[in-house]
Amino acid sequence: MDQRLGKKSRSRAEILVPDAVCIYCGGPANRVEHMPPRSMFKGKDRLSAMEYPSCEACNNGTSGADSVAAFIARIEPDGAGGSWKAVENFSQVIALNEFAPGVLDELLDDRKAFDADLPTSGGILTKRRVTHASGPLVRGYLNAFAAKFAMALYFEHTGQVLPADGAFLTTWYTNAGITQQMVHETLRIMPGRGTLTQGRNNSGNQFAYRYNTDLKTIVAALASFHTGLYISVIATSEPDAFCLATQKGETVNYGRLGELLSIMPRSARSRLVTLPNLAGRRRHQAPRGCQAAGLINPSRSRRIREIYDGE
Ligand SMILES: [Zn+2]
Repeated sequence: MDQRLGKKSRSRAEILVPDAVCIYCGGPANRVEHMPPRSMFKGKDRLSAMEYPSCEACNNGTSGADSVAAFIARIEPDGAGGSWKAVENFSQVIALNEFAPGVLDELLDDRKAFDADLPTSGGILTKRRVTHASGPLVRGYLNAFAAKFAMALYFEHTGQVLPADGAFLTTWYTNAGITQQMVHETLRIMPGRGTLTQGRNNSGNQFAYRYNTDLKTIVAALASFHTGLYISVIATSEPDAFCLATQKGETVNYGRLGELLSIMPRSARSRLVTLPNLAGRRRHQAPRGCQAAGLINPSRSRRIREIYDGE
């Protein structure tokens, strides 16, 4: 059983201890950050766990990322129009346009939509109307959300803010972009189970993740947000040892502490306040002989596999 089940939720004073620093940028913390955010849960009814110190700029400046992630997570593969998820998404359209202007236009652009045969959870091919969630706004917001999740999980499982010379890799999938086989294969090698828990209650049907960690230097996880959004992350204080920089690519985002706001789409950034970069500017250089290793295919990297496989 996850040792965190039943863990007592922390008060604001316990989270914002003197000298608490933001888990996203390392600056002074003065906000309690909820990751996943309240908006991810049905009726914004969120259990009080996974709350972290953050600064005002990182907390307020990424509301658009939270809104987009919550919206996409509620889009159901089977397209059940009358479900509570569809109803809540419909009611969130105004807020989404405010916090993440342009995203709906980009996502619902009929010129990009097409019909495709996709398997149901039972494996039966069914014709669906799909679109590529590949526009710059959706990608920017979901990359930022995944970066937040990576740094929050690092703090959750190591008890430390990701160091300035640490790094993270993230990949996200929408409902049509991940196969159940891929989910099951990845989950099989992640022994830990996490979700929000408070007393006897948990949020496992809305948000859950499988993870592996050495509790000190690295956390690897695959999370599901409802049935619409899946995020895979690795966050580590030793990015060179795990060859992290060599794995970045078009769909695999690489980042560091303090870079969160620069991952947000440019249109959202114009509303942000810029803070000095407290994370330092040391450039990463991959060590010689570093082999490219797949984020989702851990067998390509022996060291990552050791972490995935556990003791
Ligand atoms: Zn911050």
